[in-house]
Amino acid sequence: SNIVAIVGRPNVGKSTLFNRLLERREAIVDSTAGVTRDRHYGKSDWNGVDFTVIDTGGYDVGTEDIFEQEIRKQVQLAVDEATSIIFMVNVEEGLTDTDQEIFELLRKSNKPVYLVVNKVDSSKEELPATEFYQLGVEKYYTLSSATGSGTGELLDDVVNDFPTTDYKDPFEGLPKITIAGRPNVGKSTLTNALLDVERNIVTDIAGTTRDSIQTLYNKFGHEFVLVDTAGMRRKAKVSEDLEFYSVMRSIRSIEYSDVVILMVDATLGWESQDMNIFGLAQKNRKGIVILVNKWDLVEKETNTMRDFEAAIKHKIGQFSDIPILFISALTKQRILKAVEVAMEVYEDRKKKIKTSKLNEVMLPVFEATPPPAIKGKYIKIKYCVQLPTPSPQFVFFCNLPQYVKEPYKRFTENQLRKHFGFTGVPIEVYFRQK
Ligand code: GDP
Repeated sequence: SNIVAIVGRPNVGKSTLFNRLLERREAIVDSTAGVTRDRHYGKSDWNGVDFTVIDTGGYDVGTEDIFEQEIRKQVQLAVDEATSIIFMVNVEEGLTDTDQEIFELLRKSNKPVYLVVNKVDSSKEELPATEFYQLGVEKYYTLSSATGSGTGELLDDVVNDFPTTDYKDPFEGLPKITIAGRPNVGKSTLTNALLDVERNIVTDIAGTTRDSIQTLYNKFGHEFVLVDTAGMRRKAKVSEDLEFYSVMRSIRSIEYSDVVILMVDATLGWESQDMNIFGLAQKNRKGIVILVNKWDLVEKETNTMRDFEAAIKHKIGQFSDIPILFISALTKQRILKAVEVAMEVYEDRKKKIKTSKLNEVMLPVFEATPPPAIKGKYIKIKYCVQLPTPSPQFVFFCNLPQYVKEPYKRFTENQLRKHFGFTGVPIEVYFRQK
């Protein structure tokens, strides 16, 4: 999928553009209850083309003094990972040395770079903006953060220039599984344990891992493709614990996958980075399995496992019907079980309920527990279908869909889960006018 990175000095206005791109979409995504809002990356679309936006500014570290260490690193990552780069400057401050330095880095990439001059709020600023021609560009775009004008022209070009992919997936039709998680949680240890080859050196240093993207797994009657986010094509000397880094890697492999195995460190517990990866997987409607790793290191009492599981379910909120397994990648304890569960989730995500069966089960449920009447108006659900989408989405036709509120949608989702399964699979429920 296409990734658009917004790059620029601190405070030029990157997040304003970022938020604008996400706005329309967020309104929809927000209805998925229980997910923390992402601040630094999200999905957008223009002219019907989907893409992911990354605001590198979410990781601004403060002043420009640290350009060498941090900004340069972030720019480099953006260059590595993005399909297109929006380079933002600010007409109020004019062209700065840092701008020139960043632009030098960007120019060396073979990615399309769009120079965007921000804060051009009136024709007054059009002339000063011409200063940026010094960068040697043929064209730049002007944006007004105040009015939002200029975004359309920019996006027309960005989306238009997306590479057309005649890429043929060599693993077409096979389950794709990503092992995701914080640095050092045990991703490469698990990958190795599954593949049963010490193809890479696993060390105590955060993020040491092998140099491969996808590996075909075929054992014990299971065949799937492992997509390794641990540190694909990792360049030396990039700060591994930078959340930005792992997020960029994760986005791509998660989007490419069917099921995300989210590894959590038993010795550290559930942290915000875990939540972020979880949110990514959920928003992309991927199957999810949570593996609590390094269980061998935990001193166990009667309820340790139960308490740990309850703590995670509490944190992930609404969508908590997710398999949680306690494993040790190091001692290979329960790793085969983990594979089996991941494959079950994969199958469940593909599952299509026959329309006749769906109606036979769900209509009586609605009959018995109808949506609460609003202003004396009764809501009658007449018919339902599952859409032919890669992950389960259901449409319920009724007379007054606008009156069906969030709690009833959750009730409907829970009923679907109760009757048809879908453990570990995000479900989408829509109410529509017949
Ligand atoms: P990655 O960064 O997520 O790929 O993590 P690694 O696989 O490199 O693991 C980081 C460290 O944790 C290494 O020293 C592993 O030996 C250790 N480790 C991984 N899994 C386990 C486990 O289940 N139990 C214990 N005790 N250590 C583990």
